[in-house]
Amino acid sequence: MGRFKERWLDQQDRRRRATCLGDLTQAGVGVFCWCNRCGHSAEAATQMLISQLGPDFPVPEVGARMRCSACGSKDVSTRPAWPSRGQTARHH
Ligand SMILES: [Zn+2]
Repeated sequence: MGRFKERWLDQQDRRRRATCLGDLTQAGVGVFCWCNRCGHSAEAATQMLISQLGPDFPVPEVGARMRCSACGSKDVSTRPAWPSRGQTARHH
């Protein structure tokens, strides 16, 4: 039985690690997006994305729904636009 539970916990853990759009609104943080083809980058308003995708949408997957406004490529990556990386490591 141990093995099944470990696997389940692992899935829960992985799901918890992905930052969702709802987490960013609480922190007042936008979504940083950049194009892998031309290097264009922009910060999207989290509130706007939530109205389209919902608060439970994982931030790393937002890029798959976006298109670069500069070159039209769909190869866009996204991450939370934390103001200072690494300093807000807070555990619940
Ligand atoms: Zn581009």
